[in-house]
Amino acid sequence: MSDRVLEIRSGAATDVGRVRQVNEDSVLAAGRLAAVADGMGGHAAGDVASRLAIQSLEQLLFAPGQLTTDEVLRAIDRANQEILDAAVSHPRASGMGTTLAGVAVVGLGGTDHFLIFNIGDSRVYRYADGALVQVTVDHSEVQELVSVGLLTAAEAQSDQRRNIVTRSLGSDPAPQPDTWFLPPNPGDRFLVCSDGLTTELSDDDIERRMASHAPPQVVADDLVAAALEAGARDNVTAIVIDLLDQDASSVVDGDTAPRPVLGDG
Ligand code: MN
Repeated sequence: MSDRVLEIRSGAATDVGRVRQVNEDSVLAAGRLAAVADGMGGHAAGDVASRLAIQSLEQLLFAPGQLTTDEVLRAIDRANQEILDAAVSHPRASGMGTTLAGVAVVGLGGTDHFLIFNIGDSRVYRYADGALVQVTVDHSEVQELVSVGLLTAAEAQSDQRRNIVTRSLGSDPAPQPDTWFLPPNPGDRFLVCSDGLTTELSDDDIERRMASHAPPQVVADDLVAAALEAGARDNVTAIVIDLLDQDASSVVDGDTAPRPVLGDG
């Protein structure tokens, strides 16, 4: 059995937008981790909450060896506690919270998988075979209404309640993240983004831009630029993650027969 290590490449872009004074989104795209946190709370405490969430995940970059699901979930739990603790020592920050959504490469049953995790209304999309699919389900009031058939997805897009999040870090009892495990497929590309991107751009527009063959950083920059163009009423953050072509890596299956070497002419 081969035990290949998945290699990913990511590019991230974030912008305060055209209306807000402070960028309360925080972002991590390093190693085998990518995450977006969208902070909320008065007195500019939202940026504190989102930074604490990202810093907790950053600790995982120093862990030796393959990441485990358990480590990621513990880091999310730790983030929740740190936000609660910070709110106690800085009363002005009480009530601060943050979303957290991301992608991590973790070992599952001996092979690498994509772990998708989500709390709140930041999103993870998967782009594969020419189609963009939203993996995460928003924890928001309008999503709850869509789920029970009281609102259509189109109505939710412009509903006044669309900013009300029903699950966030900085809560007691600690919120449970939703998780998904996706086996890697050649050509996989992921998008992690804050709601500032998805309120400005339609899924069709995002899909068109994700179809680009440009490197992840170029696509992330393009998505944020398009949201700015559309008015960027909120902070905007996008991370694009590519699964690198495994055939191009130096990892070789033990059972792969030797292939003829092609000349480089
Ligand atoms: Mn936002």
